[in-house]
Amino acid sequence: MIFKLEDVTVYFPYDNIYPEQYSYMLELKRALDAKGHCLLEMPTGTGKTIALLSLITSYVLSKPENPVKLIYCTRTVHEMEKTLAELKLLHNYQTRHLGPAAKILAIGLSSRKNLCVNSRVLAAENRDSVDAACRKRTASWVRALAAENPNIETCEFFENYEKAASAAVLPPGVYTLQDLRAFGKQQGWCPYFLARHMVQFANVVVYSYQYLLDPKVAGIISKEMQKESVVVFDEAHNIDNVCIEALSVSVRRQTLEGATRNLSRINQEIERFKATDAGRLRAEYNRLVEGLALRGNLPIADAWLSNPALPSDILKEAVPGNIRRAEHFLHVLRRLVQYLRGRLETENVEKEGPVSFVASITAHAGIDQKTLRFCYERLHSLMLTLEITDTDEFLHIQTICDFATLVGTYTRGFSIIIEPFDERMPHIPDPVLQVDLVLSVLVLSFLAYSFFFWASRSSGLSYVSKA
Ligand code: SF4
Repeated sequence: MIFKLEDVTVYFPYDNIYPEQYSYMLELKRALDAKGHCLLEMPTGTGKTIALLSLITSYVLSKPENPVKLIYCTRTVHEMEKTLAELKLLHNYQTRHLGPAAKILAIGLSSRKNLCVNSRVLAAENRDSVDAACRKRTASWVRALAAENPNIETCEFFENYEKAASAAVLPPGVYTLQDLRAFGKQQGWCPYFLARHMVQFANVVVYSYQYLLDPKVAGIISKEMQKESVVVFDEAHNIDNVCIEALSVSVRRQTLEGATRNLSRINQEIERFKATDAGRLRAEYNRLVEGLALRGNLPIADAWLSNPALPSDILKEAVPGNIRRAEHFLHVLRRLVQYLRGRLETENVEKEGPVSFVASITAHAGIDQKTLRFCYERLHSLMLTLEITDTDEFLHIQTICDFATLVGTYTRGFSIIIEPFDERMPHIPDPVLQVDLVLSVLVLSFLAYSFFFWASRSSGLSYVSKA
């Protein structure tokens, strides 16, 4: 059915509409007019998604002079696919009535695990392994070696995508993840890198909360988003948990053992480079004097997760002198691991704020706050310099650096809790050191970091924001 809602012509793909859906749309429209925020709640199964998509897409169609992008965040891949399926149905309806004027590009975006079409890479068991298996075939230095040596495996879908260059685009339409994989296979292009590239041109992007809320991911995926966007958070009551998860880190004995092994391997790599290509390490040192942010634009396949917490202006600062040399940085990390090992030797529950915790690290391990703050990015830089592609093997040292950066960056909003036992097995010693985000104001600041407007749906709550 087609009807007028104030000055907007609404295209709704069903013959009947519930009164609740109508008032939901009306409130939503008024929030969009006001460029404001709204929090909407409706019971499960009352057609919230289609009401929301109908109103927002109709609103955009009614105001072609002011195009806005719709960013729709869901919690799970299943919900993402359901939302895109509803949007496809709606889009078909709008196209039947409006013809080419209804043309849009709508895509879902997810991890390599959900978009990869390389069967050898997909055989990897989890998300981190798929990421690493992809990097092993697409990192710039691997491809450079493969150009000389045909025995080095690359990914044909990535190579074809790179060869197609600016011709590698998605035609208008609504693409679920399944559609993207099918299109990628048909063209011979990697759907993951294609979708990442098309995000900046799409009218509608459906992806998971983390792409906006987790600074590690948002720095890569969402930085190109235009300011004029309507952002919808489905099931928005989960937002605080997602923020807390993104900024909480747990360190156990296994983490420290794994980190120690990682440091040995990094040390071997440093020695290997010193013997074969010392210039790379020197070049890295010189660049770090200028600041981490000045490393330039990395090839798309080399970009790693960005820093979990550092504002970009801090990244322009010179990296502390004591961690510019690769081997000095390794010494710092070894001392940190040693310190944390000592802290886990406790029989009591301990709770500390970041200030006293950092003071204790400085006193006992000789590592100051600024050095801690740069650990995550410094590790990233070193792994790139050492051309490490099996990043899934280095998750433990990444956790330690993630932890160091969090405690080195925030003087409030976190607490560090050390517990001698896992509460599920209180008789077996299994100490855990946890950094927990406790201050809601920090959650809100991460929301502000990400975007401005949200729409939620807790068993029927939609939170929408327009900027
Ligand atoms: S480039 Fe694409 S298709 Fe190839 S391995 Fe990576 S994600 Fe998979």
